Amino acid sequence: MLATIPESLQEKIEKRLRYYEDLGIRLFYRDRAAAPEVLSAPSASAPTTGPSSAEESSLPKGKSKVEKPVTAAPTAQVIPVVKPSGASLFEEVDKIHDDTLLKIREDIGDCTRCKLHKGRNKLVFGDGSPAAELVFVGEGPGADEDMQGLPFVGRAGKLLTQMIEAMGLQRKDVYICNVVKCRPPENRTPEPDEVQTCSPYLLRQIDVINPKVIVCLGAVAAKALLQTTRGITQFRGQWLEWRGRKLMATYHPAYLLRNPPAKADVWKDLQKVMAELGLTLPKKKSS
Ligand code: SF4
Repeated sequence: MLATIPESLQEKIEKRLRYYEDLGIRLFYRDRAAAPEVLSAPSASAPTTGPSSAEESSLPKGKSKVEKPVTAAPTAQVIPVVKPSGASLFEEVDKIHDDTLLKIREDIGDCTRCKLHKGRNKLVFGDGSPAAELVFVGEGPGADEDMQGLPFVGRAGKLLTQMIEAMGLQRKDVYICNVVKCRPPENRTPEPDEVQTCSPYLLRQIDVINPKVIVCLGAVAAKALLQTTRGITQFRGQWLEWRGRKLMATYHPAYLLRNPPAKADVWKDLQKVMAELGLTLPKKKSS
């Protein structure tokens, strides 16, 4: 009940909501799972603070202004994030100037910064156009990628290539990389410390390429970039704002191999990406 919120807090919340509305942020979710802190998505241009967790936790469970979504702004959603401990990943990357992909690769070198280096055959940096408007971010290399030193070249990679071609593009037109550059043993999910250690290189790659659109393939990529604990199904297929760019999360091609019906959802997502990039469906060849 709204009446349970002290008047002073109500005023504070209303003021904060008006502030967000002025910034074009009109869609709010109340996170039902307990989150350590609620902030806006990491962004170079969006506000970096949201209502405090105290304000959030005292929001009513019934009718309230913040619980009911208003008109959705296409790219300015607020999602709960985990506040990184210590210096923010983004702050560190923002300090780097005149970066290039070559410089980043040189900085990584023969990396032993996390335990994934132990089982690595080849480090998988990334592949594609350094001027791509579209960047795909996956989770980490698998066995084929580890052998070849290239991202998405196994079965899931072939499916990603088909998806890219269905959009009317070639692999060379986009950039493809992963959150971690070395293969996790037995293809397990990268652990938080590995993601944390390797992520600055990914952020630098994205900043250098400066794409219009980032597509996160799977939950690991989405969670790493958005610093969120929310499940990918809660925001899959929605435009999010990320450091001044548009970001969409969709399912990983490896998941689609296990669950083919989900391909329809991914195709819908990719059609939104195509619309954003002004791409049209390739014409069928007449026989
Ligand atoms: S995964 Fe990243 S941080 Fe870990 S060893 Fe490989 S390049 Fe270094």
